[in-house]
Amino acid sequence: MSWHQPLDRRLLLSLLSIGAAQALIGCANDHSTASPAPGTAGATATTTTAATTPAPLAAPEATPPALPPIPPPHPGPPKVVSRAPGQTRRIALTIDDGYDAQTVAGYVEFAQRSKIAITFSPNGAYSAVWNRHADVLRPLVEAGQVQIGNHTWSHKDLLAHRADAAIRADVERNEQWIQSTFGITSRPWFRPPYGSHNHHVDALVGELGYTKVLLWNGSFGDSTLITPAQLLALASQYLQPGTVMLGHANHNTILGLFANVEQLIAERQLEPVTLDTMFGTSRAIG
Ligand SMILES: [Zn+2]
Repeated sequence: MSWHQPLDRRLLLSLLSIGAAQALIGCANDHSTASPAPGTAGATATTTTAATTPAPLAAPEATPPALPPIPPPHPGPPKVVSRAPGQTRRIALTIDDGYDAQTVAGYVEFAQRSKIAITFSPNGAYSAVWNRHADVLRPLVEAGQVQIGNHTWSHKDLLAHRADAAIRADVERNEQWIQSTFGITSRPWFRPPYGSHNHHVDALVGELGYTKVLLWNGSFGDSTLITPAQLLALASQYLQPGTVMLGHANHNTILGLFANVEQLIAERQLEPVTLDTMFGTSRAIG
């Protein structure tokens, strides 16, 4: 496929610069020790939402389609993906983790205001940060603008001597939280923390119904704290047709740059979509 060639060459060249090499690294290790929130956060969010947010009397045409029932897992052979299939102007913004409350709030506000499709892969370990936005995110989820992927509950490296049972529990715990908080399954989408995976991990999550293992081919480089100029340069470099863009809701550098990101997307006539839209998967099937 000839169109791959220029992109691969561009990526290769970009790896020669230190900043971009860092950009292709997944989540930094600096938050792996963050304490999980106590208790079952999903139940708390549901209770809070029900108690404090009466259902608005929206006009019928403004009511988002009802969410489908959560489908059962469909175990199968895993497929690792990192870019859009075929030739397309679509991009997928994929935003992970969420250990900084201000940055998560900024991303939620950005999604709500811009209507740009985003796939979040939050860790339940940061449920105390995410749950407060559930009532804003759920309509966006229902409308299909926002999708949720599974990035494990604890964000531990899956290759760091972890037992299979521990990996399964980490993934399933996050799925339960996602279901109760956002009303959808994260299946079949799994993003390994740090991008750290192998055939064994892929097969293991495939048995749980995560048959799409998501990597990326572009990044804001913000798994560690970088400057606005660095982030903007990486955004300009990687926001290209077909990109699966990785970002993190962990550092607030992005907060002043949402307008720039929107401008790049508009200037380049890119079409942000969810993973479901980009790869033809469905929350109804899982
Ligand atoms: Zn991560």
